[in-house]
Amino acid sequence: MVKIGNIGLGEGKPVVIQSMTNTDTNDVSATVAQSKRMIEAGCQLVRITVPTMKEVPAIAAIKEQLRAEGYETPLVADVHYNPEVADACAAIVEKVRINPGNYVDKRKFQKLDLTEDEYRASLQAMADRAKPLIEICKQHGTALRIGVNHGSLCDRIVSRYGNTPKAMAMSAMEWIDICQQFDFHNVVFSIKSSNVVSMTEATMLLWEMMHKNGTVYPLHIGVTEAGAGDEGRIKSAAGIGTLLLNGIGDTIRVSLTEPPENEVVFAKIMVDVLQNQPASLHLLRNESELTICCDEPDRTRWMALAAAHAANAHHQQKIKNLSLENQHFTQEENQDLADKILQACRIKMSQTEFISCPSCGRTQYDIQTALAKVKARFSGHPDLKIGVMGCVVNGPGEMADADFGIVGAGNGKVIVFKQKERLSAPLPIDQALDELERLLANHK
Ligand code: SF4
Repeated sequence: MVKIGNIGLGEGKPVVIQSMTNTDTNDVSATVAQSKRMIEAGCQLVRITVPTMKEVPAIAAIKEQLRAEGYETPLVADVHYNPEVADACAAIVEKVRINPGNYVDKRKFQKLDLTEDEYRASLQAMADRAKPLIEICKQHGTALRIGVNHGSLCDRIVSRYGNTPKAMAMSAMEWIDICQQFDFHNVVFSIKSSNVVSMTEATMLLWEMMHKNGTVYPLHIGVTEAGAGDEGRIKSAAGIGTLLLNGIGDTIRVSLTEPPENEVVFAKIMVDVLQNQPASLHLLRNESELTICCDEPDRTRWMALAAAHAANAHHQQKIKNLSLENQHFTQEENQDLADKILQACRIKMSQTEFISCPSCGRTQYDIQTALAKVKARFSGHPDLKIGVMGCVVNGPGEMADADFGIVGAGNGKVIVFKQKERLSAPLPIDQALDELERLLANHK
């Protein structure tokens, strides 16, 4: 069991629900206020981005203010690219998340041809850098999360294993070795992707590898850059739900381009409906056709149930079509939900696939409004994936799956990207969307 402040993860403990603030971390009162709203909605772990050493005093002040007001919910510092920041935060908050893809290694989308010795030396450099962090964690009782992201796998891993679920699982396994080298076990692992199928396959692979290896660490699960509205909820339920139905997952984060309280509400519904499934739920399979019947009257619970079971059935044996039957909804409503689930599982694309991050303290534009505008203008392209990302630091890598995208650049502006290629200067949103429209017209 991993201990994060007053919370235990693993060893049969109930699934813990977590979310992340999206205020500017340096705005202590806004972040405290948002954390309180999240906690009151049921959030049991609050994650806060700490991009640089400048935000370290702010996260200390946020913790102090929350504790002074009687909120004991553990805090997690989210750190990328900056091992010094991770060291500093490990002495302050209950848990630190680092990303193995950018802790020491880098991603420049280059093919590396490393010899076995060079590969091992690169791993050793990572272990050497991790040693002081692990010592600080041991000294302060701080937990770590090793959070692998599909979009930020380092060049070393991708060059050896390809851009695959195995590469994601191996990135986590390398850190299991590092933690075990230093006899550190207060650690949680996660593998996220905006692609539901890749995320579930990679997490299941890691689960199997951990079992073979003899030590099973708790898993944090979630689909990243899932988007907003029904689409974001359905992708989350498909990915997280498949794993929960297979007994995998100790803590979950639903990732929506919406206020973080909404993530918590849906996460609670999903866990509850999967733990208390209606007796009327039946799955009928006819070769590659799946029919799910149920009389659940609540739309959100029905959406979570149907998405989780359809994705799980698809994981076990590929499906090509899905029918939903629920007397509380019209045939059109059930068909619309089935289409969205098929899209989330990338079985049948019926509209543009939007990949949008939940935003965090790095975001400096109104991403929720921008996503709504992008969806309103560009929904009718089933062959396209469009990214809407909060920051230029992680956005281009994390939307690696997208054909086009806009990425936050600061001062309310965004940059237009075609895959990994930057195509514009920072532009106001509406101007960037005009540019995107021009590019899409030429793309056809
Ligand atoms: S891509 Fe989005 S969630 Fe990720 S660091 Fe940037 S703003 Fe934050």
